[in-house]
Amino acid sequence: MRTPEGVTVTLVRGDITRQSADVIVNAANSSLLGGGGVDGAIHRRGGPEILAACRELRASRYGKGLRTGQAVATTAGALDAQWVVHTVGPVWSSSEDRSALLASCYRESLRVAAESGARTVAFPAISTGIYGWPMDDGARIALRTVLEVAAPPVTEVRFVLFDAQAYAEFEEALEALEAQG
Ligand code: ADP
Repeated sequence: MRTPEGVTVTLVRGDITRQSADVIVNAANSSLLGGGGVDGAIHRRGGPEILAACRELRASRYGKGLRTGQAVATTAGALDAQWVVHTVGPVWSSSEDRSALLASCYRESLRVAAESGARTVAFPAISTGIYGWPMDDGARIALRTVLEVAAPPVTEVRFVLFDAQAYAEFEEALEALEAQG
């Protein structure tokens, strides 16, 4: 689908570290020093340059780490991208509504990507893995936020969904949004 600003939103199934895009977004944790899931895969395939850049961030502007909902860019190392934008999703909570923080991850990542001059941005489904966010709700928040805020120079936002269930949930959420007009 196309956003009001003319940005194309696409869904693909696959491994985000195999994508070619100006920006690959990492579902990082606040330490910026690596973890499991997407984070582990990005550092494995992207090589040591990304971790070195993250260490530099920790030694300078981000001494206490990156806060939940914020985003920061580094080199993409050996990935087929110009930058990795690291963002920290909220851990799912059944007792507290943290949706604004999840929306902030998408908004801030797009802001940082646009500042870098990126045209194509690949996102994973932030917080829906180790951080436990239900996929259907995570998909709705991701798509709604991108629809609202994506703008040039970004021309394409691609969601890279790891498995069939994630892809199906995003497809359903996208169709629901389209039906709403
Ligand atoms: P979080 O800690 O924010 O939950 P995870 O990396 O654990 O982040 O998971 C986020 C989502 O990314 C999950 O839906 C997970 O299945 C998916 N995922 C894991 N590895 C990859 C990958 N290599 N490419 C794309 N998506 C992935």
